[in-house]
Amino acid sequence: VPTLDTAWTVRWIRRSAEVLATNRAALNTLDRDIGDGDHGENMDRGFQAVLPKLEGLADETTPGAVLKLVATTLISTVGGAAGPLYGTAFLKAAGAVGSAESLDAAALVALMTAARDGIVLRGKAEEGDKTMIDAWSPAVNAAASAQAAGSGVAAVLHAAADAAEQGAQAAEPLVARKGRASYLGERAIGHRDPGSQSTALLLRAGADVAL
Ligand code: ADP
Ligand code: MG
Ligand code: MG
Repeated sequence: VPTLDTAWTVRWIRRSAEVLATNRAALNTLDRDIGDGDHGENMDRGFQAVLPKLEGLADETTPGAVLKLVATTLISTVGGAAGPLYGTAFLKAAGAVGSAESLDAAALVALMTAARDGIVLRGKAEEGDKTMIDAWSPAVNAAASAQAAGSGVAAVLHAAADAAEQGAQAAEPLVARKGRASYLGERAIGHRDPGSQSTALLLRAGADVAL
């Protein structure tokens, strides 16, 4: 049975940095179609800045402390819309898990719910506005259902990642009502929202390192 302890949290962030670096050009391309072309660059810069800080963590640190470190780093290094939004997500996630040394399925759902709620609080997007919320909200719902049905942490993580990917795809035919893509009106139809895609990548990374 996987344990979502500090080591998992660090693996999640390292894997996220790796996946965002690999997908940097692809995320830029999505953002070039319906934004300003920098989403891959922004996310890669932020997560690369976290990596050296992970080396300096104390042995007795907690998942929440790691999430808080990610939050402050993203807020200070990623500009644009995504920096404050993901920064708030990680900050609220850190608050939700408190000083727990490891997270059970209920704590994991609380983490994801707080992250999503933080993004909504900050960005005021609703589901269907073609933003990263269209990946986060189905992910939270799927995670909560899986947890309620008795699934363990790995299954909850995979359910969330699957739902985020489906949510990102389901938003492709929509018009955007928030962010830069909202300036495009119907020209955004048929394009994938870059923030939904990065959310799906982050959640998949978390599932992949639940060993
Ligand atoms: P910028 O648009 O400032 O260049 P990024 O390109 O890094 O920032 O991030 C764009 C992504 O941010 C979008 O694809 C969308 O998912 C997300 N986004 C933008 N505005 C909002 C909002 N108000 N609420 C939620 N997500 C948003
Ligand atoms: Mg952009
Ligand atoms: Mg920008």
